Amino acid sequence: MKGKIALVTGSTSGIGLGIAEALARAGCEVILNGFGEVEAARERIERYGVRAGYHDADLADPARIEALLEYAESEFGGVDVLVNNAGIQHVAPIDEFPPERWDAIIAINLSAAFHTMRLVLPGMKRRGWGRIINLASTHGLAGSAGKSAYVAAKHGMVGLTKAVALETALTPVTCNAICPGWVLTPLVERQIEARAVDGDLSGAREALLGEKQPSLEFVTPAQLGELALFLCSPAADQVRGAAWNMDGGWLAQ
Ligand code: NAD
Repeated sequence: MKGKIALVTGSTSGIGLGIAEALARAGCEVILNGFGEVEAARERIERYGVRAGYHDADLADPARIEALLEYAESEFGGVDVLVNNAGIQHVAPIDEFPPERWDAIIAINLSAAFHTMRLVLPGMKRRGWGRIINLASTHGLAGSAGKSAYVAAKHGMVGLTKAVALETALTPVTCNAICPGWVLTPLVERQIEARAVDGDLSGAREALLGEKQPSLEFVTPAQLGELALFLCSPAADQVRGAAWNMDGGWLAQ
């Protein structure tokens, strides 16, 4: 992976940062994006002796996604590994779901991946190698009450991944989805806080895991980073259009 350029959207915290770090350790230069602690994220990449770039594109805005890809081209010479990771959540029953939250979730969790992929694919094909990894979710393969927009976007992400994998099947570019179960990141911490009764966070954490994840343990960003690295390896040349779950047994039920 030495010298390859990786763009990881939403990589200032959580899973994106874990995957960015695994790619950096393998020798990739990494372009970070997201609204979290940029300097802390940059330090975690640079300690592997690789270059870390950053672009502040809001992925809800297609024009900013174009600016992000222009930055990748002008500063790094293109993108070899694209990880579509940025995502948001909102939990409410559909008849109380704010329409603007629906639009934001579809834009950031699904449409952004359409835009990044349409923009990076020509360069990957020209250079003769590419890896696209889309962060879907167990919610890309199963539903949950209260998460209509998220479940719709993640099922869409799995379908989009399959379509792009077929369009690139005769090329050295692969496109796959990763479907994590619960991972303890800011996105999930907010859900735990919302469920906690009388501030009992550890009780809420156990209840959250107990409902869905038979191992009763969180998946870690580092474990997902290793899966992403495998998908970048020659051993995964023929892994195409997969929706690969890492979920403590969630989808085995
Ligand atoms: P997180 O909140 O820690 O990270 C989300 C990242 O996306 C942050 O860097 C944030 O700044 C960025 N982001 C948010 N809105 C953005 C926007 N409009 N433009 C650019 N960046 C934006 O969350 P996470 O749990 O690490 O989630 C990462 C991905 O993994 C998401 O797609 C999420 O749906 C998916 N996922 C998470 C879990 C989980 O349990 N945490 C499970 C399955 C899938």
